[in-house]
Amino acid sequence: MRLDKLLGHMGFGSRSEIKRWAKAGLITVNGSAVKDSGKQVEPDTDDVRFDGEKVEYREYVYIMLHKPPGVISATEDRRERTVIDLLPDEMLCFEPFPVGRLDKDTEGLLLLTNDGKLAHELLAPRKHVPKTYFARVSGDVTEEDVAAMTLGVTLDDGYVTKPAQLVIKSKESLPTGEVLSHIELTITEGKFHQVKRMFESVGKHVVYLKRLTMGPLQLDSELPIGQWRELSEEELASLQ
Ligand code: URA
Repeated sequence: MRLDKLLGHMGFGSRSEIKRWAKAGLITVNGSAVKDSGKQVEPDTDDVRFDGEKVEYREYVYIMLHKPPGVISATEDRRERTVIDLLPDEMLCFEPFPVGRLDKDTEGLLLLTNDGKLAHELLAPRKHVPKTYFARVSGDVTEEDVAAMTLGVTLDDGYVTKPAQLVIKSKESLPTGEVLSHIELTITEGKFHQVKRMFESVGKHVVYLKRLTMGPLQLDSELPIGQWRELSEEELASLQ
């Protein structure tokens, strides 16, 4: 890999800045100053240093974000804040993107990476990766709804959903007399607004939605809302 590409990827600056720094003797490879920023280096084995500091090369990043409401699952947008705006500068040079989408008002587990292959595998419909959501639903979610979701419900566009597992966790009676149901729903596909539309199809309305899991990955209960961390080695291994 070219030296300027490696350093650019690791967030050290633009190609022209790196060229200047190389000329100034700030960059060494295996102990010798390298004036030509286009030099080929072996990222995994060569000892590349910038101003004496060792450059630890890595190609991919894998980030767990506890998505808050009010940000969109996109890399950029002219009007709205995006999930990328929640990451620090040192992560941006890796150009991470969200693996799939959560609605603007949905919270919870969102994986961000620059590993296109892994993202593709997790999102491929043929893989049927299960995703579990916690929801508060206005209305009394019943065993009939559980049975309907197990069989598949018909969405507003005529699509019949794949079998989904609905678990009623608890119910709350509001002072108005209305019932609020707390549920968990596991689906293995990812249609637009799927969870909300599945409940609409049985005449109920999702008022709060949070994703808890995606495949083997679970939202870290210690991760505050709006915060991120890199995946552990075990978490990454479980995805591959
Ligand atoms: N289903 C929805 O309705 N919204 C989401 O954000 C995710 C799944």
